[in-house]
Amino acid sequence: MNLCATCNSANDTQLRNGDCYICRNKIGSTDKMIEEAAQLLAKEDAQSFSISTMIDKDWLTREEEVWDLKIEKCQSIKNKLNWLISSNLHKATGLKYNVQGDCRIIFDYSKGERGEVRLERNELFIFGRYKKLVAGLSQSRWLCSACEGKGEGCASCSGKGKNYESVEERIGEPLKMATGSEDYVLHASGREDVDATNSAGRAFVIEIKNPVKRKIDLGHVAAEIAKTSEVSVSDLAIVNRGFVELVTESHFDKSYAAEVEFEKDLDKDQISAVESLRGKTIIQQTPTRVAHRRANLDRPRKVKEIMVLDHRKNKARIKIKAEAGTYIKELISGDNGRTRPNISEITNNKAICKNLEVVEIDDGFLDYFLKQKIGN
Ligand SMILES: [Zn+2]
Ligand SMILES: [Zn+2]
Repeated sequence: MNLCATCNSANDTQLRNGDCYICRNKIGSTDKMIEEAAQLLAKEDAQSFSISTMIDKDWLTREEEVWDLKIEKCQSIKNKLNWLISSNLHKATGLKYNVQGDCRIIFDYSKGERGEVRLERNELFIFGRYKKLVAGLSQSRWLCSACEGKGEGCASCSGKGKNYESVEERIGEPLKMATGSEDYVLHASGREDVDATNSAGRAFVIEIKNPVKRKIDLGHVAAEIAKTSEVSVSDLAIVNRGFVELVTESHFDKSYAAEVEFEKDLDKDQISAVESLRGKTIIQQTPTRVAHRRANLDRPRKVKEIMVLDHRKNKARIKIKAEAGTYIKELISGDNGRTRPNISEITNNKAICKNLEVVEIDDGFLDYFLKQKIGN
């Protein structure tokens, strides 16, 4: 039994060099493949790369047969290859090896006589905070259910293929242009209703698929987005994949400005009653309007601040800061007793929320992570 130099060195050079029992000499094309990989990378806007190797399953079987010869310091040929390729490709290109590299090179030894090299562009992740300046936009793309997005000839969406324009498109399209990418996905920290606006700035990470360009002028992109006057973005920064989870899994306290209409005109006592909710914990059953998609639970939520900003006759503007996950419209109406205490009940004056705006989101800790990630 003979091995090629590489397979032999993975097995403590215990066998003779020759026609390779494990890889059938295919590893001999590695230098050529690295050369090809370097040429592919040279055409890319990449500063780092990762690799993956694919080998025939038979190699693993034959490798185990070699190990059965009781070779002391054996190493799997796949590990050996990964190490060899990443260090030589680094030497050939000067680019950094990084598991989350800008491009991934696949060294596929299972294809063809001499193996095959392919390049895939890893996703680009961009953090930011968006403001939604107008009502009537959904957060993510919302395809028409009647035609499933096809559009043509559909009466339900008048041929547009969608029910609403979206924040995702307002942010994603300019980025798609700037990066020459195929597609994008918006990941955000919660969402506002279609009919709500948000002047506070909601944290998001947008994932750009297959970007040709990675070094882009983020200031220019922000200016392009602002041109729509529907959505604006700030704090744009390139981040790593880990930020998606950080942003989507974190829950933040929010402050709202609610325009509330009461059944009867408000008096002083009712205003103090509203403000007496400050610091109180309310119990919210899953609201009727979302009960079809959420489990029915009693949730305690703290009202951190509440203040009547102004009022006239039966109308009031109320600022409410509440724990993450509080249903504000129900805190106001009471949702037929499913939220208690509530504003209708404690004022003994039936109240409904006419307009709700997020005015502040306590997500400052994200900035701490941003500084750390960008610094290295
Ligand atoms: Zn070999
Ligand atoms: Zn349609």
